[in-house]
Amino acid sequence: MIYDIAIIGAGPAGMTAALYGMRAGMKVLLLEKAFPGGQMVSSNYVENYPGFVGISGAELAMNMKKQLTEITYKTGEILSLNLSESVKILRSSKEEFQAKNVIIATGANPRKLGFPNEERLTGRGVSYCATCDGAFYRGKTATVIGGGNTALDDALYLANFCECVNLVHRRSEFRGDATTVEKVKENEKIHIYTEHIPIEFVGEDVLTDIVLKNTNTNETVSIPTDGVFIAIGYQPNVSFLPDGILKNETNEIITDKDLMTNLDNVYAIGDVRRKELRQIVTACSDGAEVISAIRRKVNV
Ligand code: NAP
Repeated sequence: MIYDIAIIGAGPAGMTAALYGMRAGMKVLLLEKAFPGGQMVSSNYVENYPGFVGISGAELAMNMKKQLTEITYKTGEILSLNLSESVKILRSSKEEFQAKNVIIATGANPRKLGFPNEERLTGRGVSYCATCDGAFYRGKTATVIGGGNTALDDALYLANFCECVNLVHRRSEFRGDATTVEKVKENEKIHIYTEHIPIEFVGEDVLTDIVLKNTNTNETVSIPTDGVFIAIGYQPNVSFLPDGILKNETNEIITDKDLMTNLDNVYAIGDVRRKELRQIVTACSDGAEVISAIRRKVNV
């Protein structure tokens, strides 16, 4: 069978594209490496997705997946792609698929600080997901690195059950939403270290301390901490893509106004592409827009 669209990645962008494709009567294949939801599964509480006063990311993901009643959903990692012909070939670890249009919706992965012992201490005090690992630090001290919405949300989440939460950000102003910044500032359990950068993780078998440097004075301070949550942004998941797809210097896929890449009938949506605002709602918007663009192109 040749699918009308093959979507790689079942985050909010990919699942919305699948929903709109399905409702347009297209033959839709949705491929996911692990489980649906993407990054939103790690969001403890989503407050800015319209229609929900508050909902966990995991529940929102499950709701989106439930709507996809008439598509083909497969799990498996894409190992190679041939995107140059009119019928595209996708090879996963398990099967081979053919499709007229390919939509890349593989999102992004947490960025690392790059410290020599970061990998060794991952799972031993260093984490990239507060929702996944936060409960291990109940009654303990946790330190969050970053100044965006993820770091702010993580700090608030951890403050629910940690004894103390340090929030370390390299600039004086946070990047995240003003309302969330206010909540963080009002929370007595959260100690804010602005204009500080982490320079070292201390610990042999497990993390014991984090060393910070004041960016104004260059003074260093070592803070005892049981856990560090690194929330310094994301890197697009593009390693499986052939070289021919145009990306910028930070590996974000470049798309045109119809969300098409430089390759014909190959699209990119959600956090994997170059865009200004990375939110669940903008990922969903991409998913709807891309189906509209494909329909206009093929006159469906
Ligand atoms: P982000 O907005 O890119 O923020 C990354 C933060 O990490 C920035 O404050 C950045 O500092 C800092 N940073 C980057 N590299 C660093 C380094 N090497 N050392 C120290 N600090 C570093 O990433 P994000 O917070 O993960 O959010 C990603 C997107 O998802 C955003 O659009 C965000 O709004 C969205 N999001 C939304 C929600 C929500 O709506 N509930 C929740 C989470 C995320 P600078 O500020 O100095 O660049």
